[in-house]
Amino acid sequence: MTEKLSDEFQQIKDNLEEIEEKITRAAEKSGRKREDIILLAATKTVSPEKINYAISCGLNYIGENRVQELESKFEELDREKTKIHLIGHLQSNKINKVLPMVDMIESVDSIKLAKKLSQKCIDLSIEMPILLELNIANEESKSGFKIEELTEACYEIAKLKGIKINGIMSVPPMSATPEENRKYLSRINQIFIDIQGKKIDNVNMHILSAGMSGDYEVAIEEGSNLVRLGSSIFGRRQY
Ligand SMILES: *Cc1c(COP(=O)(O)O)cnc(C)c1O
Repeated sequence: MTEKLSDEFQQIKDNLEEIEEKITRAAEKSGRKREDIILLAATKTVSPEKINYAISCGLNYIGENRVQELESKFEELDREKTKIHLIGHLQSNKINKVLPMVDMIESVDSIKLAKKLSQKCIDLSIEMPILLELNIANEESKSGFKIEELTEACYEIAKLKGIKINGIMSVPPMSATPEENRKYLSRINQIFIDIQGKKIDNVNMHILSAGMSGDYEVAIEEGSNLVRLGSSIFGRRQY
């Protein structure tokens, strides 16, 4: 882009620079480096132009919540330079559509869904990386495995061909301050380390996806290595 950047685009660039610094600092606080942490832009409601601009600023992971919305943007996205994750609940009737578009499904929230995904991936001769979604605070409004269900689900899903567990994703409750979320984020990390320690066959437990705009620094301090940021990059969402 050679002409003067519009204010909105300039804002995205500034936001990304600030986020980079904060991620670096939080990573160092937890004994890691910037490159150990994945920054994924949560792009729901954001136009392909803005997403592509963020990609041109160096962003290389994006996440969409809805298959239909991803489909509407897919052709326009600068896909060479970015990986695409599904981060929202997946209905089984959308499996066929989503598989060719994404590099990872972070939101596997039931054994039933995992089985259907597995079958379809076997048919396509692919292996799709997945994360298991953990409902850390047992919230009615959220999908995901409960704490007491997660380990068993992991053993079950590990047996399925065509998909491979790469880690855990969780969306803790929206607290007033990031510090209030620290207990959840730290608990998520404990559970992650615990399952990692079991060395389950066919499981590559290495990604902990936790932390959003309101709490990503705390999430990284508590062990997260993938943060999903929307509003802190693109500004408030307009629905
Ligand atoms: C929207 C969304 C995000 C990003 O939320 P922000 O608070 O805008 O950073 C992260 N993860 C999921 C699953 C989301 O739906």
